[in-house]
This record gives sequence, structure tokens and C-alpha cells, in this order.
Amino acid sequence: MTDIYARLGVKRRINAAGTLTRLGGSLMPDEVLAAMREAATAFVDIAELQAAASAVIAEHTGAEAGIVTSGAAAALTLGTAACLTGFDAARMDRLPDTSGMANEVVIWRAHRTGYDHAIRAAGARLVEIGYNDRATGAGVRGLEPWEIEAAIGPATVAVAYTATPAHDPPLAEVVKAAKGLPVIVDASAQLPPADNLTRYINEGAALVVFSGGKALRGPQASGILCGRRELVAAALVQQLDMDVSPATWRPPSLIPRDKLRGIPHHGIGRGFKVGKEEIAGLIAALERFATLDHEAERAARLQRLEVIAAALPPEVAHVAGEVLELSVADAYGLSRELQDGDPPIHLGEARAHAGVLLANPLSLGDADATIVAERLRTLLGRS
Ligand SMILES: *Cc1c(COP(=O)(O)O)cnc(C)c1O
Repeated sequence: MTDIYARLGVKRRINAAGTLTRLGGSLMPDEVLAAMREAATAFVDIAELQAAASAVIAEHTGAEAGIVTSGAAAALTLGTAACLTGFDAARMDRLPDTSGMANEVVIWRAHRTGYDHAIRAAGARLVEIGYNDRATGAGVRGLEPWEIEAAIGPATVAVAYTATPAHDPPLAEVVKAAKGLPVIVDASAQLPPADNLTRYINEGAALVVFSGGKALRGPQASGILCGRRELVAAALVQQLDMDVSPATWRPPSLIPRDKLRGIPHHGIGRGFKVGKEEIAGLIAALERFATLDHEAERAARLQRLEVIAAALPPEVAHVAGEVLELSVADAYGLSRELQDGDPPIHLGEARAHAGVLLANPLSLGDADATIVAERLRTLLGRS
């Protein structure tokens, strides 16, 4: 075997942990690979290609516009930048320095994640509101609309919202309380279900971000920023290579040149560039995802879990929703042993602190499920 990983001496791993970026996100289907390969064979105007991508993203999300980014985290930074600058070229030039500018992004304390660094990276200051009473067991209430309204002032540029299956608080309520200020929704890992592609836009989000390298199975370093046309355009200007001559620059109509007082230089998003290959690959992935039989996909995922569950005693393994929970005495120890095996196997560790490892079927092949089942049977049957 002389594949690229073998040549580099890097192990191939079995991923039963979901769409983890550090394991490679997801695997690209043939049609995505084909689109990237084709895109790599010609020069194009990247702005024109992004405008074409915008039309496809708009069709599938219901948003006015959308661009391909180098990931959902990059999309959060770009979307925040757009809320900070609008079409003001001088402000674009200053980011991430926002001193003296409106620069506050309001966020519910319980919606903060490790990814909000991406919002702060644009130069925004997070203003935390509300409490986390339900999760701590301290109380009965979540975030209430008056708390959002009270936090909004002249320095506020946006409200950030982390989408979860709990939809708490309801996005429409947050949008209403934001009174026209943009609400930026981090929906990076909220696909499937497929109708989440349109859900947050329908509920009034100004900007929504999705990962391209998770369940969409696009290029790993890709993502989507979609939403209001003028915000998406302001984000695009700050992502594009802007080494252009004013005399010959012809941006696509997505970028309203008449609203810019001058032509911005490279913006805060210049380091988040996407290639023609990522743009083409993401579009192919989105079009594929839109035509998938999601019921059949779900059934196949559950079947993979059943293969693993069948190898283990019922008191150890049970299917909960779309994951298999493994209750074991030493979850971290078992996870380490699985990762040290050949091939290394990764299970989800989000609840390992409570003695539970999670088998997620999203990135597992059928053959992988059998290998995972056999390895677990061996390791757990030992004692
Ligand atoms: C994965 C993830 C991101 C980052 O997505 P990338 O596409 O890897 O940049 C951001 N927010 C949440 C909630 C995520 O799960």
C-alpha cells in the first residue's frame, strides 16, 4: 500500500466520534472530489465564482445571499466583521481595532462556546447576559426577551445565538427582542436534519453559519456564511484578495460598489481565503446534500449502531437517539486503549467524565462498524 498516509507514516483512523475537525471532519463523496478536481484546471475570477456560489447557497438556504468560507469559525469572524463595518471601507481597514466604534455583540451566557473566539477575533466585545440556571439546576428560567432588550444600546452591533436541538430560547423570540439588529446564528454542526438549512433564516436570523466539512461532506476547510445580502457582501469584500486597480476592478453585482466610498484594502478575512477548489467542492456538496434521501441515510446510521450494540451486553450499550451510549467503569481508559489499537478507533468523549463513551455513526462506514464492534467486544469482554 503506497497511499499518501502510508508514505507519510500517518495512521488511518476509524472515526466513531462524529464530524470531528481534528480527525479530518468528514470524507468527501466522489461528486465533491470531482468538482474540486475540475475547478483546479482553470483560472477564474474568485469574486465572480463567489457570486455564483451565492446564488446556489441562496437557493438551498432561503437566504438572500451566501458565500463559501474557510470554515464555520471563519464565517463567524467574517459575519461579525460585516456587522462591525457595513460598507465603511475605513472601518474595514481598521479591524480588529474597534476602539471608538460600536463593537458590542450580545450573547447569552449559556450560548458561549469555545468558538466565540471567532467573534472576538473580528474586534467585537462580547456582552454576556442572563444566567445558566437550568443547566446548573439553580433555577427554572432561561434567557428572557427583556434581558436582551436591556443589553442593547448604541454600542451594540449584533446578537450572537448558538443553535442547538433544544432551540432555547426560541430564535424568533431573540430576533424580535433584537429589534432589527442582526442576529448571528452559529449552526455549524446542526445538519442533519436537512431542514435546518432553511430554518434559522426563516426564523429571522440575519446571518447563519454552517460547517462545510461536517455532515455536508464538503472540503474539510470550507463553510457557509449566508443571510442578508448587504451583510454577506460586506463579509465578502473583507475576505477577497483586494490587490485591485480602481481603474479596472469590476466586482460582481453582489458587491454594491456605489455604497463603498473607496476600494478597501485586504481585510480581516484575507487570511481566511478560499480557493476555487473549496468553492466548487462546497457547492457540489450542498447540491448533493439537498437531494439525499435523508430518511434512508438515518436508517443506515442506526443500522451501524445496531451492529455495535449487538456485540455488547445491554447493560453496557444502548441506543439513545442517534448515538450509542457505552457505560463503562473507566471511559477515558477505554478510549485511550481504542486509540492505541490498530487501526486506532475514536469514540465521542463528551460524556467520558460521567463514565459514558458515545459511538456516533455519522462518519462510520459499514465495515468500520464491524471493526468497532469486534474491538469493543474484545476489550470489554476481558475482565
Ligand atoms: C465545528 C463548529 C464550529 C467550527 O466549524 P469549522 O467549520 O470547523 O470552522 C463552530 N461552532 C460550532 C458550534 C461547531 O460545532
